[in-house]
Amino acid sequence: MHVPLLDLNAQLDEIRDEIKIAVDDVIESTRYIMGPKVSEFEREIADYCGVEHGIGVSSGTDALLVSLMALDVGPGDIVLTTDYSFFATAGVVARLRATPVFLDIDPATYNLDPAKLKEWLDQNKDKIDKVKAIIPVHLFGQCADMKPIIKTARKYDIQVIEDAAQAIGAQYPNNGQPLKAGSMGIMGCLSFFPSKNLGGIGDGGMVVTRDDEIADKLRKLRNHGAAPKYYHSMVGGNFRLDSIQAAVLNVKLQYLDEWHKKRQENADYYNSHLNKNKIKVPENVYRHDYHIYNQYVIKVANGYEELKKHLRKKQIGFGVYYPVPFHLQECFDYLGYQEGDFPASEEAATSTIALPVYPELTTEMQDYVIESLNEFFD
Ligand SMILES: *Cc1c(COP(=O)(O)O)cnc(C)c1O
Repeated sequence: MHVPLLDLNAQLDEIRDEIKIAVDDVIESTRYIMGPKVSEFEREIADYCGVEHGIGVSSGTDALLVSLMALDVGPGDIVLTTDYSFFATAGVVARLRATPVFLDIDPATYNLDPAKLKEWLDQNKDKIDKVKAIIPVHLFGQCADMKPIIKTARKYDIQVIEDAAQAIGAQYPNNGQPLKAGSMGIMGCLSFFPSKNLGGIGDGGMVVTRDDEIADKLRKLRNHGAAPKYYHSMVGGNFRLDSIQAAVLNVKLQYLDEWHKKRQENADYYNSHLNKNKIKVPENVYRHDYHIYNQYVIKVANGYEELKKHLRKKQIGFGVYYPVPFHLQECFDYLGYQEGDFPASEEAATSTIALPVYPELTTEMQDYVIESLNEFFD
């Protein structure tokens, strides 16, 4: 048997006709740039996330970039973020010539440790006026612990931008009225990269926000800072979302909660069948259905390299997210971090394995993955 990490063909088989009609509609409409499909999709996503505004952009990376631009982040500024995420989270900060400051993660969730955030701010009072933003990441589809993060941010009057690229629809507890990922900070950044839970047929992203002024600024920034056309009050870029992506994503959005549910069921199935003496399964720290499992990530302390070999031999797809934490990336040498600076993040980078968890995974396939893993540890 062969079990891929992700199978977009299986998803396409369910919705091929609808997708093709949506694409064809855009082609025939000739409204390729900022057409009605984009504004319709922005409305849908804003509602889905429980906020007022959605601003479609060209990718999750550009969502992060344009969010920092909306806060006027530039040279000399500091942005605090997690040490353990996809490169874009840190890359956008450096691209604006601001300084990323990395913080260690909570080993249970792989998300920014709120205690480390508070500690850094308490100990660096002289630098606080330079700190323009905090970017927590909702890694693998589970929200970072936002309550203490936002409390600390408020104390020091710093804005929070959520990197919700892996977490559209993930929830965070709030006295029985859960909040959606992306709705808790001043801005939330989504990605529609094909491997995300809501993936396009190419690149795409969105910034969601409750703030009218920020929304207005974001709409300008994604279109060269122009409003009206040819009158530029600020320097932006071409960060627009294509109509064709919006049309496809609107079709897929109708299935998203169903797909989340299947991922959660698959995660539960792994949790109850994997040998937990040898394999650390992901900790779902809130409610069962708050984690959307963009990735199902196990942690293996002993036999990491051998296990990867074993999985390859068994033709089981897996991912390593992420093999090198930010502070050890060559491009960040200039920041002066050392090995050993962030033990939890370093440990995660050498012990995590993502297993197939996509919605269309069959029980038969999952049983094969489980058998192969348990066999390895026997
Ligand atoms: C995917 C991802 C991004 C970037 O999104 P793109 O659409 O690929 O540019 C940013 N942050 C995280 C955590 C991601 O997983």
